[in-house]
Amino acid sequence: MTNQLKHVSTLPLQFNYRFNDELPADIETDNHLRIVAAACFSYVNPKAVKAPKLVAYSKEVATNIGLSDRHCESDIFVDVFSGNTLLKGMQPYAQCYGGHQFGHWAGQLGDGRAINLGEIINDAGEHHLLQLKGAGPTPYSRNADGLAVLRSSVREFICSEAMYHLGVPTTRALSLVLTGEEVIRDMFYDGNPKPEQGAIVCRSAPSFLRFGSYEIFAAQGDLDTLRRLVDYTIKTDFPHLGKPSIEVYISWFNEVCELTVKMVVHWMRVGFVHGVMNTDNMSILGLTIDYGPYGWLESYDPNWTPNTTDASNKRYRYSHQAQIAQWNLVQLANALYPLIEDTEPLKRCINDFATNYAAQLETMRAAKLGLVAYRESDNSLIANLHKILQLVETDMTLFYRGLADLKVYQQDQTDAQLMAPLAQAYYVDAQLTTENKTQICQWLREYQQRVRLDGITDESRRKAMNTVNPKYVFRNYLAQLATDKAEQGDFSLVKELLEVLRHPYDEQPDKAHFSIKRPDWARQRAGCSMLSCSS
Ligand code: AMP
Ligand code: MG
Repeated sequence: MTNQLKHVSTLPLQFNYRFNDELPADIETDNHLRIVAAACFSYVNPKAVKAPKLVAYSKEVATNIGLSDRHCESDIFVDVFSGNTLLKGMQPYAQCYGGHQFGHWAGQLGDGRAINLGEIINDAGEHHLLQLKGAGPTPYSRNADGLAVLRSSVREFICSEAMYHLGVPTTRALSLVLTGEEVIRDMFYDGNPKPEQGAIVCRSAPSFLRFGSYEIFAAQGDLDTLRRLVDYTIKTDFPHLGKPSIEVYISWFNEVCELTVKMVVHWMRVGFVHGVMNTDNMSILGLTIDYGPYGWLESYDPNWTPNTTDASNKRYRYSHQAQIAQWNLVQLANALYPLIEDTEPLKRCINDFATNYAAQLETMRAAKLGLVAYRESDNSLIANLHKILQLVETDMTLFYRGLADLKVYQQDQTDAQLMAPLAQAYYVDAQLTTENKTQICQWLREYQQRVRLDGITDESRRKAMNTVNPKYVFRNYLAQLATDKAEQGDFSLVKELLEVLRHPYDEQPDKAHFSIKRPDWARQRAGCSMLSCSS
């Protein structure tokens, strides 16, 4: 970096204050823990850090808010996005919200370690709220420190950007910085606290409101603030619905249900397991938010959850995500009920959630298989597919990618020829017994027959499948490798993965080593196959 690059004296960011101006603020302004009433947020500044250092930034998110590489590589950038410097016009604040955690009402939660710096409206009229995660305590930090460690910050930074490029609705990330300070974490809550490197991610989204943002006011019986927040949300993020009224509240809730369906269908498509679908982690815009102990399905196992905190109940397992999303929407509906005072329309929206989800799941599954459309008779093809995916340990991502290469019009293929495109997807050779191979090939022949009914060429099917079945996902072990290097001060893998994952559907032959199945060393290693909420 030349000195000239460092000499950027400020960042050209103009802040907008609609959230702060239009919604009630906490009247207390000093930073101590408290229960906040009748307020959507509390003003609080980030804590200064010792030695901030830039790890990486996302060029696209920077461009969205009008920042160039020159800006992002300047000293002022790292100072601002570590929370050390406030730019003119910033009015940092933490949001107040509550939530149902693991099925139980948890009361006030709030931004315990997130501080909103402000909102940018770009030339295209897009709204980008910038929020630091890990920038120190807020009135909502309860018994925790408000900080974040490098390992969890690398995971959030890369994964949220990867999800965006996979086409999954998500919050995004502008930057990842080290604070130069140590943070103590007991990674598995097993009495082994250790110092780790502190880090801060700057996230960006049009809104960070969660289901819990509304639940808190309903729980407090504060209908006035509830209504103000709902009206504000409709005005700012759902303006097409028109002026708030009871009918508009219902249409709005219905739209939140639809956005949530879409998000979960995408998760199912790419094999993403959120891990902590508490209502405080459910975005009102249907964005994937709060990347904690999430994980990617490697071997296809509908019952898998990456979250060790949820290991016994597996409430947030892969195959249960839609049901949980619906349960969460019921909690939101309960919170909105006092504004609507009629359960019927809310119930209808909740029922429609299930119908829409089932329909979109079918469409998505057909697309993953390269079928032109889902037919009723495909139910058994799908059921049999899920059987063979679990018969032997099978990598979900590699399976679908391999399946795209299957020749469906060559009917005289031997079992070995049929299975050849899938060779990379299997974890344990010994499980590929003759009996299992026979069952897999039986399904492959059933699949060939079904595709032939559509009559599309192998080449068009392959192309279509490769636009919905990614080659590159942010595999759990890749996160670990990037963290291990970053902890040694080498940020090259963080940057390389960020770039590879910008094109997850492209072959990128020179990056193929990032698409391989989980290596054996990662099978049981903490951070690769198991994660706790400690971050
Ligand atoms: P999560 O489920 O991880 O999104 O967090 C649940 C609640 O705990 C939220 O209110 C967070 O702000 C808060 N929280 C999580 N980690 C910390 C931390 N290190 N310091 C303060 N608050 C935290
Ligand atoms: Mg959260």
